[in-house]
Amino acid sequence: MNAVRPVDGIAFEAEADVLIIGAGAAGLVAALAAKEAGAEVVIVERDAVPSGSTALSAGLIPAAGTRFQRQADIEDSPALFARDILEKAHHEPDAAMVGHLAERIGPVLEWLADHHGLPFDVITNFSYPGHSARRMHGLPKRTGSELIDRLREAVEAQEIPILTGFRATTLFRRQDGAIAGIAGTRPDGSEERIGCKALVLACNGYGGNRALVARHIPKMTEALWFGHSGNEGDAVLWGEQIGAELVDMSGHQGHGSVAQPHGILISWATIMEGGFQVNALGERFSDESHGYSEQAANVLRQPAGKAWTIFDARIAGIARQFEDFQNAEAQGAIVSATSIEDLAMKTGLPEAALAATAAEVAALKRGEGQDRFGRDFSNVPPLAAPFHAARVTGALFHTQGGLRVDDAAHVLDKDGRAFPNLHACGGAAVGVSGAQASGYLSGNGLLTAVALGEIAGRAAASSSA
Ligand SMILES: Cc1cc2nc3c(=O)[nH]c(=O)nc-3n(C[C@H](O)[C@H](O)[C@H](O)COP(=O)(O)OP(=O)(O)OC[C@H]3O[C@@H](n4cnc5c(N)ncnc54)[C@H](O)[C@@H]3O)c2cc1C
Repeated sequence: MNAVRPVDGIAFEAEADVLIIGAGAAGLVAALAAKEAGAEVVIVERDAVPSGSTALSAGLIPAAGTRFQRQADIEDSPALFARDILEKAHHEPDAAMVGHLAERIGPVLEWLADHHGLPFDVITNFSYPGHSARRMHGLPKRTGSELIDRLREAVEAQEIPILTGFRATTLFRRQDGAIAGIAGTRPDGSEERIGCKALVLACNGYGGNRALVARHIPKMTEALWFGHSGNEGDAVLWGEQIGAELVDMSGHQGHGSVAQPHGILISWATIMEGGFQVNALGERFSDESHGYSEQAANVLRQPAGKAWTIFDARIAGIARQFEDFQNAEAQGAIVSATSIEDLAMKTGLPEAALAATAAEVAALKRGEGQDRFGRDFSNVPPLAAPFHAARVTGALFHTQGGLRVDDAAHVLDKDGRAFPNLHACGGAAVGVSGAQASGYLSGNGLLTAVALGEIAGRAAASSSA
């Protein structure tokens, strides 16, 4: 399916200055930036309507030093944000790239708000693990579908064509290594070819390709795939063929709290505000506050690969700002109980063990003793009846490994040389999480989609000039 071929003798049916593969957040932001920089832009998208993993996400984008934070009296800086990313990622990613993205993302969100009408604000009522300031920015519904729809509307307002139902299959290269165009298949099986002066790969990672997941992240082979099924690793597969450098291929975002069997994300606010997780034996099994990404594998190691996320009515009130949580409630994924005994009965968890775990957590919150998993419970209030619980599993959300790029989002070869007119952004490019799930700081996904998308779009416009 994926091929890279010489362009000799190939005729193109259409031409673009900047051609973008993928209409997720990365591709749409890249398109807006390339158009503003004066390029004629075309986006191709395999689906009938752009959605991608972006639509499945909570649509929350971390940014530091924004006016949205200042309006909410939050002190923050790109340097602090970069430090948080590097600490979570065990200092594995390239520090210069991390600093570059941390600097860029704030102005990009303000540009999207001011020039393209996306009404961002910052979440002020809870903190995400590893972020030392409240810096998650979202749209009013806090959903990724709202983000993708607003971006698509902005692209349409700029009269940038999105060719939907176009699955890119082939890159055509000139002898100097530059990309001359692509071919793709249409739903009726026909092939179409589009020439370009610069190409942006914005077709995300390989989480939808089981063989690639088994090769690069074997422990997640059996995990629920919760990302977009159309992300089958095309950027990585083309990259391999042209000798691009692939980095941190085992890096990924997991999530340890996807409601079962409903398949709905239960916000990690349920944990960060003082909830905890138990397995089928009613016992905790980890420091849940370390991060939801690494918690996916922790949950999958429990009996039947399941756990219960336990919280209370106050926390449910905070989580309810997310449409996902409202849906989870509407679909009966959230159990409510008047006491721990009642909760044990309704969840089927062993009552004595659950009561002992709840008592242990309450004691830790009072400052009595040290958590054997190392979690600091000192800044969160005790849980109070009525209690709530959701039965959850661990899932793979998206891959973080990908094509190495420079600070203009040029794809690099194994000797660090830039391919002349080939750029990558979002999940197609390597992220800033390093090679482990625990390196993923909340928001790293959309950070590289939106900040690197904007960088790639502007750079591709100048590559095409
Ligand atoms: C449930 C969930 C929750 C998440 N929550 C967050 C969050 O709150 N914050 C955060 O930062 N990140 C979050 N993420 C991660 C985030 O969604 C991704 O990192 C981000 O959306 C990646 O954007 P993208 O544009 O690279 O990819 P996508 O949005 O997946 O877009 C890629 C597009 O490329 C298209 N495509 C693929 N191959 C081809 C091809 N060959 N030809 C044509 N088109 C192609 C796909 O159909 C798709 O539309 C979450 C992920 C999931 C699954």
